[in-house]
Amino acid sequence: MKIALDVDGVLADVIMSWLNYSNSIRPEIAKHQITSWEFWNEFKIDRYDFYTELSSCWKNWMTIPTTEKNLSSITKSLTDIGQVDIVTARERSTDSFVKSWLDHHNIEYDNYVSVIDGPMKADLDYDVFIDDSPLNAEQFLKNNKKVILYSQPWNQHVSENKIHRVSNLSEAIEKIKLN
Ligand SMILES: [Mg+2]
Repeated sequence: MKIALDVDGVLADVIMSWLNYSNSIRPEIAKHQITSWEFWNEFKIDRYDFYTELSSCWKNWMTIPTTEKNLSSITKSLTDIGQVDIVTARERSTDSFVKSWLDHHNIEYDNYVSVIDGPMKADLDYDVFIDDSPLNAEQFLKNNKKVILYSQPWNQHVSENKIHRVSNLSEAIEKIKLN
């Protein structure tokens, strides 16, 4: 089984780093208020600024928190049930920071795959995608891929009809084993 594991919003809680920065220069936003993927429209934040700032957060990768504790042992369990590739959509310049972050947290994976745009992931040859993006989830379903949606405030509107919503990675492992 080939498993594609996302980074931002699934392993790395990078939105917390971005919020720290944004809240120092703009009106304060809390994570739970980010209830859509394109939340920048709602808060009158320029999309380009958001992505540039997010990339800057990765330059300070040491300060980016993990989404949950024990990612090392959880990803080890995941690699016991299949091939686990990190599949991440990002600006190329941040790849080295992400790899350092993964190393620093002893996260286990087989290959590192970087794409330019999230929905492009759906064209890759994987059986299961673990991701937090509602846009990617939609594309994975179109391509008949199994989707494990890592629950975040920005994906609560996604219907649980065909996707498997999980609130942590241990649950993801259970879902993969069951199906
Ligand atoms: Mg993500």
